[in-house]
Amino acid sequence: MNQRKMAFDPGQYVKLLPGLVGIVLNKAQYLAATKLLKQGQKPGRYFAPGCCQHPDYVIQIPVLFEDETFDVMRAMNIKHIDSPPPKKRQKLRTIIEKLDQYSRREQTMEDCIFCKIVKGEIPCFKVYEDDKVLAFEDINPIDLGHTLIIPKNHAENLFEIPDEDLAAIHLAAKKIARGIREALNPTGIACLQLNGKGANQVVMHYHFHLVPRHEGAPELPITSWELKPGDMGAIEETAKKIAAAIEG
Ligand SMILES: [Zn+2]
Repeated sequence: MNQRKMAFDPGQYVKLLPGLVGIVLNKAQYLAATKLLKQGQKPGRYFAPGCCQHPDYVIQIPVLFEDETFDVMRAMNIKHIDSPPPKKRQKLRTIIEKLDQYSRREQTMEDCIFCKIVKGEIPCFKVYEDDKVLAFEDINPIDLGHTLIIPKNHAENLFEIPDEDLAAIHLAAKKIARGIREALNPTGIACLQLNGKGANQVVMHYHFHLVPRHEGAPELPITSWELKPGDMGAIEETAKKIAAAIEG
């Protein structure tokens, strides 16, 4: 009995008669697959919740199939196989990676302080909200009026944020900057956005800073660097590298 159970451990390949190849999911992958389905995304196109509720189904095995569907299977309906053809194996691995990424992201969101603010679990001094973004006061402000604009959907940085959320952030920034100008009459507003620990990003949820500047306020190093000519050869070489990477 134990041996039979062992044959269906997560990560093992199975075959559904008459021939679909699948892989057994672990709990996190199964939950991710269920949530992705709810959002109308692949995988899977079908799911039969009745299966796992039926009293006869003592052994329930969540299986993802090569056609990007998944189901909870009875052990008797699937057969263990050692190694599917490389192409099928690769395809299953790709989908599994997607599920793993999704569940890692879910975990990150559960721990994310800005996601908690979006959900209302942590209070904030809100200044603006629309369907895509939320803006609130930084509680460790550089100066009064220091405002953060965040996407409601968790994205860690500029590399991850979807185009439409990024556009919404910048459109909101324009409105909020006008509000700051009208309310506080600053001499300028600095816009800052940091990506990665190397740039001192502290909260790993994309955020755009609006920092009102006033006469006599201490300089921000990032807005007051010394202007000295660089090495033109190195600048040209770097521009070529970046342009090539963008094209590539
Ligand atoms: Zn978040």
